[in-house]
Amino acid sequence: MTETPTGRRFVLGGLLATLGLAPIGAEAARRQTSQAQPKSGTKPVPKTKSSAKAQPKAPAAKPRPARGRQAVGSKPAAPRPAPAPLPLLVIDPGHGGHDPGAIGPSGTTEKSVTLATALELKQQLEATRRYQVRLTRSDDRFVSLADRVSFARENGATLFISIHADSSSDHRARGASVYIRSAATPAKLKRVPPRSRAIARALVGEPPSPRSAWLRTALLDSLGEEVELTNDPAREAHFHVLGASGIASVLLEMGFISNRQDEAALKRPAHRRLVARAIRDAVGDYFTQLRQPSHRT
Ligand SMILES: [Zn+2]
Repeated sequence: MTETPTGRRFVLGGLLATLGLAPIGAEAARRQTSQAQPKSGTKPVPKTKSSAKAQPKAPAAKPRPARGRQAVGSKPAAPRPAPAPLPLLVIDPGHGGHDPGAIGPSGTTEKSVTLATALELKQQLEATRRYQVRLTRSDDRFVSLADRVSFARENGATLFISIHADSSSDHRARGASVYIRSAATPAKLKRVPPRSRAIARALVGEPPSPRSAWLRTALLDSLGEEVELTNDPAREAHFHVLGASGIASVLLEMGFISNRQDEAALKRPAHRRLVARAIRDAVGDYFTQLRQPSHRT
């Protein structure tokens, strides 16, 4: 039984070879074989090569059902090695408590829209089942900047996303932007004598990891499809909250709360859902990029 088709394949292979199509033909045959296996199993035909190898194993496979049943019966769906823990994302809703942040023309506080967006984002990220998510605050309370950073550090965060809303005396200013930690020496430090500068530099922290920049790019790409961005949305600053070394950290300004249109948008749950979705997608893109060999460090 098995020989006939093999023979046929040889004949076919010979023909294809003469036509200069052998590799394709061979590959196609292999593909057909592998496709046919799960479906039909009607003929032993496709298995020729593999079945020969598989046969010695077959007897050994017979006792397996019993073992299999035991495993099922004793039910420890004991998934092999413990799965790797999910990456921890820390979401940081800006301001809170006695610190309202910026206040919009119609009285909307920055602290309220940052919290509402962070809560929405947490839900959306958790729904993917790909991450653990924690907030630096989940109600209207004051948390110091230092505590926000230590929270991320102590919990071993992989990502840190601080959420804010911008403000400007120019009420026409609109749009979202994303900050990472600045690599530049702060102007103040440039005036410090070199010896003290090293100490001051250490206090200021290390330059941002490239991962922060990837995250910023992913965020801007994703947000740019949904909301208006400022003219120069990829920014850097010496924000204390971006100071955790080794954690990809960004600060998102969702829009200008000082602008009536942006304020109105930030007040709408539907708009916040849209922003949260864009962030969620950006986080997904970030991890996809991170898995690419060229970006492994
Ligand atoms: Zn703010």
